[in-house]
Amino acid sequence: MPAFAGMTNNIENNLHMSEYTLITFLKIIAAILVGGTLGSFAGVLLYRLPRKQSIIAPRSYCNSCKQTLAPRDLIPIASYVMNKGQCRFCHAPIGREHALIELLFIALYVLVVLAI
Ligand SMILES: [Zn+2]
Repeated sequence: MPAFAGMTNNIENNLHMSEYTLITFLKIIAAILVGGTLGSFAGVLLYRLPRKQSIIAPRSYCNSCKQTLAPRDLIPIASYVMNKGQCRFCHAPIGREHALIELLFIALYVLVVLAI
C-alpha cells in the first residue's frame, strides 16, 4: 500500500466532515429563521386570540401607542434587542414574553433539525 493512501483517506474524511458541518450549519440557520418566524406568529396568536382580535388585520402594532410596526420592528429577537425592549415610537416597554416565545421556538427547531 502506498504511503500516501492513508493521507488520501484523511483528506476524504475531512472533506466529508466539512460537508457535514456546512449542512448542519445551514440547517441551524434555517431552523433559526423558521423557528423565529413561527415563534413570532405564535406570539401574535397568544396575544390576539384570547382578545377575540383578528390574526390578519390590523398589521402588528404597539400595544401602547397603537403605531403600526414597520418590517424592521418585526424581525424576531433582533428587533427586540435593537429597540432595547421598547417601542421605537413611544418607548413603552415590550413584554419579554414575545422574545421568550420566539427563543423557545428557535430552540425547539434547532433541536429538531439536529435530531434529524
Ligand atoms: Zn408604542
